[in-house]
Amino acid sequence: MRPPPLLILLTDLRLLDHDTGSDHPEIPARLQTILATLQQSDCSSCLSLQGTRPAERQWLMAAHDEGWLFRFEEAVLSGKTFIDHTDNQICYDSYKVATLAAGAGLVAIDLLEQGQAEQVTARDGLMPREPGTMAKDGQVSRAPWTAQERLAGAAFCLVRPPGHHAERIRPFGFCFINNCVVAARYWQQRHGRKRIVVFDFDAHHGNGIQSAFEHEADSLYISIHEHPSFSYPGTGYADEKGFGAGRGSILNLPLSPGAGDEQFLALLHGPVAEKIAQWRPDAMIVAAGFDGHKADEMSGLLYSTGLYEKIGQSVRGWSNLHCGGRLLSILEGGYELTVLGESVEAYVQGLLAW
Ligand SMILES: [Zn+2]
Repeated sequence: MRPPPLLILLTDLRLLDHDTGSDHPEIPARLQTILATLQQSDCSSCLSLQGTRPAERQWLMAAHDEGWLFRFEEAVLSGKTFIDHTDNQICYDSYKVATLAAGAGLVAIDLLEQGQAEQVTARDGLMPREPGTMAKDGQVSRAPWTAQERLAGAAFCLVRPPGHHAERIRPFGFCFINNCVVAARYWQQRHGRKRIVVFDFDAHHGNGIQSAFEHEADSLYISIHEHPSFSYPGTGYADEKGFGAGRGSILNLPLSPGAGDEQFLALLHGPVAEKIAQWRPDAMIVAAGFDGHKADEMSGLLYSTGLYEKIGQSVRGWSNLHCGGRLLSILEGGYELTVLGESVEAYVQGLLAW
């Protein structure tokens, strides 16, 4: 019997320790809701849970100036409650949590490069200490297949705080460390996968990823988001295409408020698919944000839950076709708890369809 496809999920109980207060949308319950939904899901037997580790300083500094890292660490240790703007709420543990969130991508990339799921010992409560799978009742058991039989082709980091708004020298929009940029640098510099594409389907434009990539020929950023005239952070116009050697390394595809599945899929199956096929990446990172759902008040987009399954199918298909199945998804936004779990589940079902 052929073993089922495997998706590595990376998360950690300590990611709940980033306390943003009682009046903030980016809360620990986001992760708890997602995990509870996945535990009940039909696809739970195809998921392998792994813990994370703090990203080492050198990889944080591949995406950020050390001055910002010092300022971030000092702010949490000195008891500040936000940095620069009240959007960026912090607590004493926020620096540690942000480095753990960034580290998930590094653990995932090592696993994908090694081609198997059983390389890291998971830590702490949410995670099984031994690699295995979740049963419907939430119990963890070992799969009947060996690691070699269950080759992992994709990984998904269920982490917070999110990262795609974080700039090289400052936090922005709930984001402190740019998890996607840290992962991209690790893949490029540690494993020699030079041509990295980040596809971002969060409702908001990932200004921090764009500014990291816009001067480079070897890094490509593609984003579908609500039009910057109407939406945070006000970047992501279609005419922002990159500079110098990086001209063409940015593809912004803004949607008008009120746009839904049909408009998104026209972009996904049209310019996004064409650009990736033509560009031929070595590896693919997905900034997976779920705040474009019609029930999520963080944007005026009207995506259905089912759209996320189609996105998952597409990105998995592209990664298999163009970059040897090297596919890493990292959670970004998604704040409406009544639909966040089912949205992530739909995306995971799409990833597993191959
Ligand atoms: Zn967002």
